[in-house]
Amino acid sequence: MGSATGLIFNIQHFSIHDGPGIRTTVFMKGCSLRCYWCHNPESLNSGPELQFTPSRCIGCGACVEVCPYADPEKTARFTPACTNCSACAKVCYAGALSIAGRQYHAEELAELLLKDKKLLANSGGGVTFSGGEPLLQADFVSAVSALLKKENIHTAIETASNVPWESFEKTLPLTDLFICDIKAFSDELHQKGTGAGNRQILDNLTRLSRTGAGILFRIPIIPCYNDTEDAVLEIGGFVQSLEQKHPVELLAFHNICAGKYDALGREFAARDTKPPSGEFMGHLKSTLEEKLDTEVIWKP
Ligand code: SF4
Ligand code: SF4
Repeated sequence: MGSATGLIFNIQHFSIHDGPGIRTTVFMKGCSLRCYWCHNPESLNSGPELQFTPSRCIGCGACVEVCPYADPEKTARFTPACTNCSACAKVCYAGALSIAGRQYHAEELAELLLKDKKLLANSGGGVTFSGGEPLLQADFVSAVSALLKKENIHTAIETASNVPWESFEKTLPLTDLFICDIKAFSDELHQKGTGAGNRQILDNLTRLSRTGAGILFRIPIIPCYNDTEDAVLEIGGFVQSLEQKHPVELLAFHNICAGKYDALGREFAARDTKPPSGEFMGHLKSTLEEKLDTEVIWKP
């Protein structure tokens, strides 16, 4: 049997927002939700995708020459028939065209991650799998995690939890911390914002808490979607009902990812949404703290 492979679109070193200490964050392709405010649109599809950064284009035309579908008047990126074959990205020396998504073998990725072993360990950090939805590639995540655990590296998974429970089971023994988004407690609101209901998600989180796993809950605060005391308190009520106590972190929406949507040629539905104010985030934090018997985190 060959080694597990996974599709990754970015590996970010020295990350300080994806778990304790200094971390290396591995961003994986594919997601089972379609949140209209998604900060990582290049993560959504489960295959490689062409990206175009116009500011880097020098107009050399090399892409048009190799693309079977290109409009000679334009760069290859704009062909609606694009099959993501990557031929144009390979000849774009200006770096305007690139492919999001590269296949790694588990051993290859672990070897790369372990190059920073000392730094990660000395800072109390480790490796975080993010996305997209890393649990859609649970076999690969557990194969890499097994290799990291042999070297005592702390492991975390950022997940939206919209996956079969079996995906959690595969990674549970090898994961120190699950960082779990909850976007809405109401099934209807969840469906409206993400394209899917949340019963499977809440069932998974209830089961996960029962296992005694380390969990940090994250609530993204999205203006005109879930930025009300009621919506946040409903999520808080769910967290309070779980068997174990888990900290909750509030994350403010931002729209600095708009350029990524442009690079993929996609609409960004939250482009004109303004981030919530610091004052309002502070208010939601104290509202939750009054109701919850657990730590509430918000980093301005
Ligand atoms: S190969 Fe790259 S730099 Fe040249 S025209 Fe195409 S996109 Fe622009
Ligand atoms: S990736 Fe798309 S645009 Fe580029 S050469 Fe292939 S089909 Fe053409």
